[in-house]
Amino acid sequence: MARLRIGVVDLVSKGPTSTLWARVMHANLASIMPQVVATWCEQQGHEVRLICYTGLENLQKELPRDVNVVFICSFTQAALLAYALSNYFRSQGAVTVLGGPHARCYPDDAVKYFDYVLGFTHKETIAEVLQECRSRRREGRHLSASRQPLHLPGVKERWKFIEPTLKKAPFLQMVPMLGSVGCPYTCSFCIDATVDYQPLSFDVIKEDLRFLLTKYKRPTVGWHDPNFGVRFDANMEAIASAAPPGSFRFFAESSLSILTEAHLEVLQQNGFEALLPGVESWYELGNKSRTSRSMGEEKVSRISEHINMMFRYVPYVQTNFVLGLDSDEGDEPFELTKRFVDLSPAAFPGYSLLSVFGEAAPLNLEYQRAGRVLPFPFHFLNNHLAMNIKPKNYGWVEFYDKVIDLTAYTFSKKAIYRRFKATPNANAKWMNFMRAVSSEGYGRLRFYRQVREKLLSDAAFRQYFEGESRRLPSFYKEIIQKDLGVWWQWLPEGALEHNENAYLHKSFPTVV
Ligand code: SF4
Repeated sequence: MARLRIGVVDLVSKGPTSTLWARVMHANLASIMPQVVATWCEQQGHEVRLICYTGLENLQKELPRDVNVVFICSFTQAALLAYALSNYFRSQGAVTVLGGPHARCYPDDAVKYFDYVLGFTHKETIAEVLQECRSRRREGRHLSASRQPLHLPGVKERWKFIEPTLKKAPFLQMVPMLGSVGCPYTCSFCIDATVDYQPLSFDVIKEDLRFLLTKYKRPTVGWHDPNFGVRFDANMEAIASAAPPGSFRFFAESSLSILTEAHLEVLQQNGFEALLPGVESWYELGNKSRTSRSMGEEKVSRISEHINMMFRYVPYVQTNFVLGLDSDEGDEPFELTKRFVDLSPAAFPGYSLLSVFGEAAPLNLEYQRAGRVLPFPFHFLNNHLAMNIKPKNYGWVEFYDKVIDLTAYTFSKKAIYRRFKATPNANAKWMNFMRAVSSEGYGRLRFYRQVREKLLSDAAFRQYFEGESRRLPSFYKEIIQKDLGVWWQWLPEGALEHNENAYLHKSFPTVV
């Protein structure tokens, strides 16, 4: 096969930006799969350039003009930028390939704009694409292996691509690592719930940790496992055998059922400094937190105690909640979350508005069948800019009132001060403070208030939310145009719309 010039673009940002957050943090949010794909392409003898797009780079300049193939990895919120980039690179004669979460959630939409769209991707999948490497303007080809690969190139093999990415981050430099794929739990809303749990090679993990000690004085590693530590003892033994106490700093997302006090002791000994457990709701999804039988008040006390106990072992804990679940009704769930904010002042609450991502989870079929999914453009599907599903037990204004009240409570001066005082370490204190006063706390509050005001004052806006109109309010269109910047002109026609019920129509072709 001829040697190809290949570009790999990892979209961390959904448009050009130069905010402080982007400069400091975006490079730390790089995905693993683009680095894996770049490594596989090189192993097959091709010339590869990988760019982690943090929003600051000029993509037209950074990729060689005569590139033959461009792989783009994108979450759904960056899909419109991915579509625009594909359009641009196709105009330059390149074949384009989409991978990542958006390709898995919306393959039928993505094939309209890419030559290839990849689901589960193995080295053989990449070889097949490169072997064929054809422009497919009418409709792209969708390829997916039946499961995740059992082996992925580790940090040592990916280092050539990791190093230049992390050099973009001025302070914290977090190396992305993976100990497992999939999850044994079955949270109905989660993209990983239907992916078989598979630990990756502990030998590769050990080798990578030893390798990192030759690169940094005290490396920081972010584990990208959907649920870290499922095979807890084996995982910790692997880490302890390669990472002497105090030599590493680890961050991970893990379920509360794994984060028992005995496990936290071990995590502390091994250098874990930030943990992100999901609480999700006070009423359901309890299979993660082992509290499915306890409800409301009791669960708040129990989880708060658990989270407060975690701070004896780790300085940073973010607790994740989903707002607007079907089990929520009235004031109570929001009041319970406010109570949690009071009882666990050091925890940083991460709030997501219930959102459904195409065919990410079987539960989405039920929402689509019930006609509750709204066609919000992909750009807003990031769990907070839009909720693309009509709440079951709230009107929109009532719902936004409650979200605004909870957000204002969580990021009030009093709560920020209490969080600052209660957080045990200086870096964690400032991280929480920055998140509260930046786009995450104050920024979202401003945005929610704008949406609420429009719901009351603009009939067409309200009709879109009620599913009575498919005409995108100009408020949203203007945001996309502004965020895409120079890439707006490359956005293909029709890309602002998608079939929000494509998964249902594909699964049950007779349903209209
Ligand atoms: S525990 Fe986490 S990763 Fe596992 S299925 Fe539930 S939400 Fe997904």
